[in-house]
Amino acid sequence: MRAYNFNAGPAAIPLPVLERAQKELVNFNNTGMSVMELSHRSKDYEEVHNRANSLLRELLGIPDNYEVLFLQGGASLQFTMIPMNFLKSGQTGHFITTGSWSEKALKEAKTFGETRILASSKEDNYTHIPTNYSLNDVENGAYLHITSNNTIFGTQWKEYPQSPIPLIADMSSDILCTEIDVEKFDLIYAGAQKNLGPSGVTVVIVKKEFLETAKEDVPTILKYSTHSKNNSLYNTPPTFAIYMLSLVLEWVKEQGGVKQIQKINEEKAGYIYSAIDESNGFYKGHAEKNSRSLMNITFTLQNEELTKKFLQEAKERQFIGLAGHRSVGGCRASTYNAVPKEACEALAKFMTEFKNQNS
Ligand code: PMP
Repeated sequence: MRAYNFNAGPAAIPLPVLERAQKELVNFNNTGMSVMELSHRSKDYEEVHNRANSLLRELLGIPDNYEVLFLQGGASLQFTMIPMNFLKSGQTGHFITTGSWSEKALKEAKTFGETRILASSKEDNYTHIPTNYSLNDVENGAYLHITSNNTIFGTQWKEYPQSPIPLIADMSSDILCTEIDVEKFDLIYAGAQKNLGPSGVTVVIVKKEFLETAKEDVPTILKYSTHSKNNSLYNTPPTFAIYMLSLVLEWVKEQGGVKQIQKINEEKAGYIYSAIDESNGFYKGHAEKNSRSLMNITFTLQNEELTKKFLQEAKERQFIGLAGHRSVGGCRASTYNAVPKEACEALAKFMTEFKNQNS
C-alpha cells in the first residue's frame, strides 16, 4: 500500500515510473545489466541522457539557443556557481528575497562580489511575493536572481519580473508545475528531487549568449562551459538519477504535458486551499492569497498541541510529510506533480473532518 506522500523533497515519484524502473532494473534494454552498471560512455546510456535532454526541451519549449545541463551538487551548488561564473568585479548581483532559499543564494553571492536586495518580504515573514520594487536602476547589474517558488513559506511568483538585466530563477520546487516562457530567463536551475525525480541531478537551462559572458578564472569543474562543451559528460554524471528523470519526463508527456499538469495542479491545490478557507479560521494559511503556491501549501492550527494532534491523526491515515519545515513549524502539504489528485482530495476531506471534531 502506497502512502499519501506530501513530502517536501525528496518527494513523491509517479507510481508508473517506479514500476517501470523496477521492471527494467536488472536488465535494461536487453543489455544484461542495470542502467547503474552501464558505462556513461556507452551508446545505451547516451540514449537515456539525450532522451532526458530532448524531453525536457520539448515539455518546457526550450529554444535552441539555450543549453540544458545535468549537474550535481544540488541547487545549493548553483547558489555558488552562479556568482562564481557571472558576478564580475564592478558589477552587482541583484536579488529579490522571498524565503530561506533566496537568502542562501544571496549569502553565497556575497562571497564573490557586490550584491543588492532589490526587494524582500522578510519583514512580513515571507508571506508574499514583493511587488514594490523598481527595475529602473539596475545598471551594471550582473543579473537579477529570484526563487520562483518558496518551498518553506509556500509562496510562488505568478508573474515574473520584466528584467532589463539577465534574469535567473531557482525553480527547484516548481519546475514543470506550470507553463513558463523560458525566453524570459537567462538561467533556470532546479534540483530534481521535487518535480523531476530522485535527488542527485540538478537541471540547468542557460541561454548560450549569457553563457558566453561567463568569467574564465573559474575551476574547470565549476564552469558551466565545461559541462556545455561536453554534453554534461565531462565527468561521470549521476546516471541513474538522469535515467529516472527521463522516465518522469515521459510520464509528464503522457499526462498531456505541462499544460495539462498545470490544470491538475490547480485542482489539487484548490481542494486543500478550500479546506483552509472554509474552516472559519480553524486553519490559517501562511501565504497571502495572491502569492499562494501550487506546490507547497503552508498553514497553521491555533496552537502547538492541536498541530501535534493533527499531524498524529494524519499519519495514522497514511498522510505523510505534513509537518512544516523545521525552521517555521506548522504544517505543509507539498502537492508536487506526482502527488495524485485523490491524495489531495482525501487530505482536504480529512482536514474538514478533523476541524469538525476539534472545534
Ligand atoms: N532551492 C529551493 C527552492 C529548494 O526548495 C531547495 C531544497 N529544498 C534548495 C534550493 C536546495 O536544494 P539542494 O538540497 O538540492 O541543494
